[in-house]
Amino acid sequence: MPTSTPTRTNPLSFLTDQLNHLKAKGTHFRLRVLEDEQAPGCTFDGKQVINLASNNYLGLTTHPKLRAAAMEATRRYGVGSGAVRTIAGTMKIHMQLEEQIACFKNAEACVVFQSGFAANAGTVSAILGKDDFIISDELNHASIIDGARLSRARILVFRHKDLAHAEEHLASVKSQPGRKLVITDGVFSMDGDTGALPGLCDLAEKYGAIMMVDDAHASGVLGRNGRGSIDHFKVHGRVDVQVGTLSKAIGVLGGYVCGSRDLIDFLYHRARPFLFSTSHPPSVAAACIAAFDVLEKEPERIEKLWENTRFFKKELGNLGFNIGGVNTPASETPITPIIIGDGKLTMEFSRELFKEGVLGTGIAFPTVPEGKARVRTIMTATHTREQLEQALDVLKKVGKRMGILQN
Ligand SMILES: *Cc1c(COP(=O)(O)O)cnc(C)c1O
Repeated sequence: MPTSTPTRTNPLSFLTDQLNHLKAKGTHFRLRVLEDEQAPGCTFDGKQVINLASNNYLGLTTHPKLRAAAMEATRRYGVGSGAVRTIAGTMKIHMQLEEQIACFKNAEACVVFQSGFAANAGTVSAILGKDDFIISDELNHASIIDGARLSRARILVFRHKDLAHAEEHLASVKSQPGRKLVITDGVFSMDGDTGALPGLCDLAEKYGAIMMVDDAHASGVLGRNGRGSIDHFKVHGRVDVQVGTLSKAIGVLGGYVCGSRDLIDFLYHRARPFLFSTSHPPSVAAACIAAFDVLEKEPERIEKLWENTRFFKKELGNLGFNIGGVNTPASETPITPIIIGDGKLTMEFSRELFKEGVLGTGIAFPTVPEGKARVRTIMTATHTREQLEQALDVLKKVGKRMGILQN
């Protein structure tokens, strides 16, 4: 007897409906595919472009010392770690990297996670519980928000960098027995401004709260040899939980938490991504170790990054683009937004730039507020002056053609 399959309507058809909705709004995208190395000049979808979209601030993704370290570690130790850290997947090279980062950050101890996302989400959800309170900047990264939700603590969001609003929240829960965590990004990824670190540290001390900073975009960029925003703002010893990423300026992959020996030991026991997800391949740890050596030995990379940043920001402003500062925070870092406003126009601008050979990411609601859509540009140390001038020419030409720049 032939068996017949009963006809069945696709239970996932609602996803297709939602995608069609995105297409109608003009915010649906296809992934752009990189065909060569992550570099300031590279090939996406068969097209040569100047890359203004990568977080490879110092050009370390292709640094010969990192490549050599990754290959040597692969040759010696293989391609995988074989287990989660707490079972059999802690290799000597993982411990070596943690010691090196702790030393670099002048912290007692460090734990490395598979990504910055895992570091934030795993840490916030491990150290707080349902009777606790999280006082969080409204522009904090999604991984902090997810960690906060997983913790089941009450989340009190303060207006961007608004210390009075943060204090209002702290005062409102002052008499509650739960623990309080004040948390901010060191550098905000959409506007390139820095977190209100000194003021928030004052508040955390005044109210007996835990102070946490996510330094994903500040590591390797701000502070002495890229030590981050704690060093930049000279708030040493006042931040209890310092998160960083190994995926941006460091050029590889991963995230880390620095703090007291007991904080790190506690995370070894309770942070769920650490306990339930396999550790990095040895090549990743080795390349990261090499990257921290490069930060110490080649400070000229950071100098070049800032030189390029100053030049590019000045020229963008001279062209007449809105690069933030009146109703949006002004960038203080290599991230410079070109604020367009309308989401659809922004996505068109980004597409036209690409056709002319410049890759700049269009970012619209809900990633940024409605009416504040932008093309985000990121400088690196390895862009040449010629590449920057060429990119500026394209931005000017397309900006005028589309009426974003006047005459
Ligand atoms: C990129 C980023 C992260 C996530 O880091 P990954 O290593 O890419 O997972 C976390 N926080 C902030 C502020 C970021 O910009």
